Amino acid sequence: MKCFDSKYNAIPKTEIHCHLEGAIRTSTIIDVAKQYGLKLPSHDIAGLDPHVKVLEQLKNLDAVLRAFRIAQNSITSVDVVERIAWEAFEDAAKQNIKLFEVRFSPDFAFSGHKIDWDAGLKAILRAKQRAQEKFGMAIGLIAISSRSMGMPSCEKTVDWAIQQKKEIHAFDLADGELTHPIQHFIGPVLRAKNAGLKITIHSGEDTNGQAVIDTICAVEPDRIGHGVRIIHDQKAIDLVKSRGVTLELNPWSNYLTNAVDRIEEHPLKRLFDMGVKVTISSDDPEVLETNLNNEYRIAHEVLGMSLDDIKECNRNAIAASFIPKDDLRKVATFFN
Ligand SMILES: [Zn+2]
Repeated sequence: MKCFDSKYNAIPKTEIHCHLEGAIRTSTIIDVAKQYGLKLPSHDIAGLDPHVKVLEQLKNLDAVLRAFRIAQNSITSVDVVERIAWEAFEDAAKQNIKLFEVRFSPDFAFSGHKIDWDAGLKAILRAKQRAQEKFGMAIGLIAISSRSMGMPSCEKTVDWAIQQKKEIHAFDLADGELTHPIQHFIGPVLRAKNAGLKITIHSGEDTNGQAVIDTICAVEPDRIGHGVRIIHDQKAIDLVKSRGVTLELNPWSNYLTNAVDRIEEHPLKRLFDMGVKVTISSDDPEVLETNLNNEYRIAHEVLGMSLDDIKECNRNAIAASFIPKDDLRKVATFFN
């Protein structure tokens, strides 16, 4: 559930793992459907929410796929891209997020309605510019390739991210690792890395610690998205620590997708106590009906981290941020 408890809201925050496609308000999906004549299972918020949100721990991936299909179909034009980006920044600002890295898959987000990728990026940049000025936040952008969209899509996304590397700070490989392991994608990921893009890889979410080991050995990423399952594999923990890889943990997401069986078992605090550089993010705040305040509430009230521990996670995120140093400096004082 979304949380606006002032105890958490007051803490300046870093969000470094948030998917734009998973951050579209239900009210916006309805507005866009009316404007563009799109069909929806319901045109009111209470009726549509069950179709665009995952509210219970998953038994299979259908609920997520359905939610993302509706989200994708809502991204109809560059005006809509600018609107959803702006609203994601606005929702972040409401929770006192000062450093915000948002990621999106151009092939997934833009291809549904054949939006030109450069024009889509420009729309996000317009929203970013306004949000940086209005909210005083530092914003970074990460381009994703969804593994299930295949190798041509991955190559195309890497080409585009390299072309746009002034605005796109990093490259990420997302989507089911179990059926699409890192070995299939080493070539394009290394091409992105060698061109100067930072690298984060979704790993150890639906797979075990060995997948994280394989990922680190194959492409030496700066960060790992999730990595939650390394808790069961000491070798993986040791490697993450020795290579200085930062984990982007998303507790409520990790519970909903069964990466942990019960939220009380989430290893955020245990990994923190072991000296792993962990950070706290929300993954898909609208689709998963969470926000960063709620993730902090879980970290503090369910997992027993102190608020100082949580602030340390923010400093980990600053240290591992992909945002250029000049922009980072503007918000660094919030995290001293
Ligand atoms: Zn993710």
